[in-house]
Amino acid sequence: MYPTHFDYYQAKTLSELFDLLSEHGEEMIEFLAGGHSLLPMMKTGLASPDILIDLNNIEELHGIEQNETTTCIGAMEHYSDISRNNIVKTNCPVLAEAVSLVGDIQVRNRGTLGGNLAHNDPASDPPAAILASQATLHVHGPNGKRTIKEDDFFTGLYETSLEEDEILTKIEIQNIENGAGSYLKKPSPSSGYAMIGTAVVLHSTDGIIDTARVAVIGAVDHATRLTGVEDALVGSPATHESAISAAEHALEGIEDYMVMEDLQASAEYREHLIGVYAKRATMAAIDNLPK
Ligand SMILES: Cc1cc2nc3c(=O)[nH]c(=O)nc-3n(C[C@H](O)[C@H](O)[C@H](O)COP(=O)(O)OP(=O)(O)OC[C@H]3O[C@@H](n4cnc5c(N)ncnc54)[C@H](O)[C@@H]3O)c2cc1C
Repeated sequence: MYPTHFDYYQAKTLSELFDLLSEHGEEMIEFLAGGHSLLPMMKTGLASPDILIDLNNIEELHGIEQNETTTCIGAMEHYSDISRNNIVKTNCPVLAEAVSLVGDIQVRNRGTLGGNLAHNDPASDPPAAILASQATLHVHGPNGKRTIKEDDFFTGLYETSLEEDEILTKIEIQNIENGAGSYLKKPSPSSGYAMIGTAVVLHSTDGIIDTARVAVIGAVDHATRLTGVEDALVGSPATHESAISAAEHALEGIEDYMVMEDLQASAEYREHLIGVYAKRATMAAIDNLPK
């Protein structure tokens, strides 16, 4: 299918972008990042913007830099660059792992972290890593800048707390320091998207887990934390036995959400996978903890 008519603009700076937004404020606008969700939606009629603003040449949206306790990744950084970057691999290994498992090489070479998080597909891999790692999302709109904490960003099915005229500029992720983590996904055999994906970040002292963040995607309508597993892990020995018993609490804390059901998996099978992947990802994170 062909998309309906739209006008295409390239912004070269954020201020050019906001000029375009105010000029076309009454029209339906979409941002073109990697285009790997937007263009299929336009071709199938699920999105019909009047105006497409290309973000690729906005320098302020690129770059990866390390700060004292955080790592900042520009919204327009591609998955392949993020997964190969040594700063990210050292400080945010769970995100590096998650983006390395997105789609195929073409998707990873074009798709961007910012586009992925803003689109918020329930089966997208990076949101789990962002929730488990903890991050501050930097946002810019016509009225200025603001920040959103990871727990407040993913609000529903393809919904985030971004306003329509706001742009995600960079993602500031907590460095893992002396902790460890893992990301594991069960890909759908047909699409490669996750049926379930689980990210875990742990810190321990003298063999006892003192912080645990566990997040799942593909389970309910948006990325969410498995607080039952987290609570069970904190204070437990960093052993596989603890991972096994904590995973028994996998469905606690997500009772208010409806577990997804589609052609790939029934809700019952997904509930089973949530426990299995909570256990496996936690075991892998425990194995990665400094000895
Ligand atoms: C074959 C295939 C397989 C895939 N497999 C996976 C997979 O396994 N795992 C996975 O996670 N994803 C997968 N994807 C989706 C892919 O990761 C997309 O790249 C991603 O969902 C969107 O990122 P993008 O940069 O392509 O954004 P685009 O498609 O360009 O934009 C998506 C949406 O986000 C908005 N947007 C973009 N950037 C910003 C910004 N900075 N601020 C505010 N809004 C913005 C746009 O307006 C648009 O509405 C797959 C896609 C394809 C085509």
